[in-house]
Amino acid sequence: MALFDQLGKKFSDFSQDVANQSKTLADISKWNQSITKEENKISELYRQLGEQYYHRCRAEGTTPEADTFLFASVDAAMEQIHELKDRIAAAKGHPSCPRCGARPAQNAKFCPFCGSPMNSEVK
Ligand SMILES: [Zn+2]
Repeated sequence: MALFDQLGKKFSDFSQDVANQSKTLADISKWNQSITKEENKISELYRQLGEQYYHRCRAEGTTPEADTFLFASVDAAMEQIHELKDRIAAAKGHPSCPRCGARPAQNAKFCPFCGSPMNSEVK
């Protein structure tokens, strides 16, 4: 009888340990997911901060010396996007602005870059 009681208690302790370990692993997984979620939030906030910083400096016409390379890299990427969009607009047959040469992506009455009226007859 005592033997069965002991075995029963050991099995019960073992079951409890397994249950506790499972709960701990589930908690750790949940906490790791929460950490990843917070890290992603920080990354997005950093991105917004950087974007605001960039545009504020550009509006002021300044380039902080410590960030010259990053600013130049953003400028180069933006220029590349501008050229590619222009290539796409040309391929779609959109007319170019008679004043600045930009190609508005849509059938605009005025150039969004320089404000000049678009001549709808120019292709
Ligand atoms: Zn223009």
